[in-house]
Amino acid sequence: MSTDEIVQRVSLIVGAGQVGAPTGRAADAVKILSKPGDAAELAEVVRACETDRIALAPLGAARTLSQIRSLPVALGVSLGRLARVVAYEPKDLTITVEAGLSVGELNRALAPARQRLPVDPCDPDATTVGALIAASHAGPLRLSEGTTRDLLIGIRYVGHQGHSVHGGGRVVKNVAGYDLMKVLGGSFGTLGIITEATFKVRPLPEQYAMTRLSFDRAEKLFAAARELHDSLPLAHLEGLSSAAAYACGSPARFLLVAGISGSSSEVASLRDATARAAPGAVFVERGDALHAYARLRDFDASAWALTAQIAVAPAQLSSILAATDAQYLAHMGCGVATLFLPEPPADGRITIDGWRQAARRAGGYLRILHAHRSFRGSVEFFDMPNDGALKLMRRLKAAFDPAGVFNPGCFVGGI
Ligand SMILES: Cc1cc2nc3c(=O)[nH]c(=O)nc-3n(C[C@H](O)[C@H](O)[C@H](O)COP(=O)(O)OP(=O)(O)OC[C@H]3O[C@@H](n4cnc5c(N)ncnc54)[C@H](O)[C@@H]3O)c2cc1C
Repeated sequence: MSTDEIVQRVSLIVGAGQVGAPTGRAADAVKILSKPGDAAELAEVVRACETDRIALAPLGAARTLSQIRSLPVALGVSLGRLARVVAYEPKDLTITVEAGLSVGELNRALAPARQRLPVDPCDPDATTVGALIAASHAGPLRLSEGTTRDLLIGIRYVGHQGHSVHGGGRVVKNVAGYDLMKVLGGSFGTLGIITEATFKVRPLPEQYAMTRLSFDRAEKLFAAARELHDSLPLAHLEGLSSAAAYACGSPARFLLVAGISGSSSEVASLRDATARAAPGAVFVERGDALHAYARLRDFDASAWALTAQIAVAPAQLSSILAATDAQYLAHMGCGVATLFLPEPPADGRITIDGWRQAARRAGGYLRILHAHRSFRGSVEFFDMPNDGALKLMRRLKAAFDPAGVFNPGCFVGGI
């Protein structure tokens, strides 16, 4: 089907004003952008795409597909018009929202009751709830609060034949045998379009303060990180090499940033304990601490020539970081780190292979988050899982998306 024909077909469903040429990052990811007004229109778009074999891509800020795909997907589906708070029960600490709502908006809805969704993706105002779940985002708070998956208690998505399917909390209908929250979390939009999510939320901590420690050698950073992690219940603990430290507003060669939060008395006692465990710690408090934390959270992987995320057992992280000549921002207690190179490497593939092998030797994996245009087409973005896992993923794809229209070829092993 030609682009014009697709525009005409989809305009009949969502209205001519809601279909058009994409702009910005979305222009690299999709040929046409559509904005359904509600879940019923979205379901009809899915049915039309299955009938006419049109590949479609759910989109948040479109930072992922514009990287992974060398060719844009035919039709992008923005959930920008599905962005309401559906139900909020402050006493139960639960909230149900549409998937086009941004994480920033979600937290602003919770703020009057002094509650929050304690996940902190980079640029929460650009990150939609749907993309948060589909790309399985996590930020510095992962150490104390876990990941999005841990907070997700219900989900609804539009899948094969435009059916709306629920799973988890507020269940109406479930798909027998599947834990939908686990299956859709990290599925990168290949199984269906998430339209609604229910989360557990948590009270906002009364106080937050940040401790910074600078070092001239990475080994000292790793030793201090171990000491703090083993002795204190920290909100977050991030290790930064020089370029990451500079990007976050510090001139340090190696920087360790620890967050402490809780009631006023808890923060006061944690502050004292941190000072004892880490002599030389510099404390940042109140507005300055929140501002510094936002810079850390919003560290933007796409600003660099080559950026990857590694995940290994936490005990293995320091040896991986010590062995690479990449720059990094690392969640020191979680085994997850962003590695990056400021300049394009002479051969990007060799560099990536080296990082990937090191991650595998440490029992983990590596995936590329951003690669310079010059070598993007020749690299594997996702690590290949073992044969058993890949077989299972293919079976899930066939069960959820038999027509093969949701983000085809955008995930592991060409799924
Ligand atoms: C291969 C790869 C892996 C990445 N992994 C991580 C990571 O683990 N942690 C991290 O912090 N950053 C990760 N990133 C970076 C991340 O993509 C960007 O940081 C960005 O935040 C993504 O948000 P976005 O709003 O641009 O989402 P988009 O790029 O628009 O969407 C992200 C993914 O979710 C899908 N999606 C969006 N909305 C929906 C929906 N409603 N229903 C179903 N699917 C939907 C999209 O099709 C896409 O596959 C990764 C990037 C790449 C290229």
